Amino acid sequence: MSWFADLLGPFRGFAVTMRQVRKPRVTIKYPDEKRVKPQRFHGRHVLNRNDDGQEKCIGCELCAGVCPANCIYVRGADNPTDAPVSQGERYGFVYEINLLRCIFCALCVEACPTEAITMTHLFEMSVDNRDDAIFTRDELLVDRDGTPNHPEPASKLIDLDELVAGDGWMRATSSSGKAAYEGIVAWTPSARTGLLPPEKGQSESPQDPAEAQEGDDT
Ligand code: SF4
Ligand code: SF4
Repeated sequence: MSWFADLLGPFRGFAVTMRQVRKPRVTIKYPDEKRVKPQRFHGRHVLNRNDDGQEKCIGCELCAGVCPANCIYVRGADNPTDAPVSQGERYGFVYEINLLRCIFCALCVEACPTEAITMTHLFEMSVDNRDDAIFTRDELLVDRDGTPNHPEPASKLIDLDELVAGDGWMRATSSSGKAAYEGIVAWTPSARTGLLPPEKGQSESPQDPAEAQEGDDT
């Protein structure tokens, strides 16, 4: 009967195709169509400013220290007393991220004590030489009004609006990462966006933060 099975083979294959044709399509016509990304998406970084225009980065180098890919280079410098660049004693006067090495883990965002570095929703960053993959302070730092910079102009691939979407990871991460702290704002306002609200729905039944603290102490 093997000749009969061979004869049916193509029809069986065609039946598989016909079953798939009736199912909803899961592919989209990228880049004409783009999916809405999750609010905690890890895309390109930006360096933020306070709502008064001062830089949030205080040049502490914690982000560089925690980075598992060793792709951040920061040099801090003392703030000029007559015109301080940041609210700390120091500011990051050199800041570079080698995005070829970055694994987009967001540990730098978690480590930053001032919410200076956050990640956006833009991931289309193709370059044609290695030097251009090193994003410098000029490219990472937003303007005084909070408008982000990007080395390439807007195009079908590069939606610059995705550079102002983000901060989701910071707004979802509460003290100790506990869902019990859901809704507790632990970050400062930024230029352009102001004080962003906490992410909603991190847990079904958030605990009282005081109770959670007691639990931590025991
Ligand atoms: S996202 Fe991760 S790998 Fe990339 S710069 Fe930040 S800490 Fe380093
Ligand atoms: S981005 Fe944050 S962690 Fe990194 S040097 Fe600046 S203040 Fe420190």
